[in-house]
Amino acid sequence: MILNSAEYNNLHRWNLRHWKKTGICELCNLEKKTQWSNKTNRYLKGVRSDWQELCAVCHHKYDVEHLGKKQSIGRPLKGPITRYPNGRRMRVPDRVYSYAWWPKE
Ligand SMILES: [Zn+2]
Repeated sequence: MILNSAEYNNLHRWNLRHWKKTGICELCNLEKKTQWSNKTNRYLKGVRSDWQELCAVCHHKYDVEHLGKKQSIGRPLKGPITRYPNGRRMRVPDRVYSYAWWPKE
């Protein structure tokens, strides 16, 4: 499942609001700045067992190893080309894979 950045942000905010983080990574057990990581790629809202609290390092590793996310961190998929009023054409990224797009806490 691929979410766009708005959907990601909404889920992330929901998690932060409803689930208190411990500040300890569930994989390496170190006390670090943690993020909510989705375990199954299903992004089930409100289902705690579908999520885990990981540090950034483990989060990225988990996503690559278990979810097959091969995109490098934060790089958006290519979106449609849009022409701006000044005549420039740019690709607008509309879908992202990575937690790096999630809002900073
Ligand atoms: Zn960790």
